[in-house]
Amino acid sequence: MTLSTSTLDPAKAVYDQSVPARAPWSHLIKKGQILRIVDAKGQQAVDTLFYSAEKPEERYSAQDTLAEQGSAYVTTGTRLISNAGNLMATVIADTSGDHDTSAGACSCEANTVRFGHQTKYMHACRENFVVALAGHAMSKRDIVSNINFFMNVPVLPNGELAIVDGMSKLGDYVEIRAEMDVICAISNCPQVNNPCNGFNPTPIQILIWDGPA
Ligand SMILES: [Zn+2]
Repeated sequence: MTLSTSTLDPAKAVYDQSVPARAPWSHLIKKGQILRIVDAKGQQAVDTLFYSAEKPEERYSAQDTLAEQGSAYVTTGTRLISNAGNLMATVIADTSGDHDTSAGACSCEANTVRFGHQTKYMHACRENFVVALAGHAMSKRDIVSNINFFMNVPVLPNGELAIVDGMSKLGDYVEIRAEMDVICAISNCPQVNNPCNGFNPTPIQILIWDGPA
């Protein structure tokens, strides 16, 4: 991982919004603008997707992003690549490190398989994504493999993925510079059946700055 901090001043952000625990969020990020996602309380998984604002059928590709950079995790310097092979955004600051983009988003169906039928009616990230994308004329068929900022997913020696206690601390953040106009969709993960949110989903803070003129 490559940890780095930012010099951007929150007082100069053009957008500054708290996203409640368990809630969806989406916003247009113009080319050159910088998005900061703050893990306000620590240990909060932030499931995140990017779509081309111009043609949303072009969207974030976890597979192309991992192949491009030759690493299993997202951190400072990671180039977020679309399914058309284009650069969508670049991670330019990261105080936490090793963000997952392999484990996907929680769903009611996956919860049922992993944690038992009694969890079927619990809120999940896929439902948040459906709500977030509905505002941009997209639906659940548009949900693809996402980034899990602040989610700790070590690859075990046998190749399996584990979801273990998050490493992010109160106030940790990532910053992402849009390299094209993108719609960013977020699920502030509501999961309480595994440790990805410290068993206690909490709010996050979203800030956006205009890029250098
Ligand atoms: Zn989730």
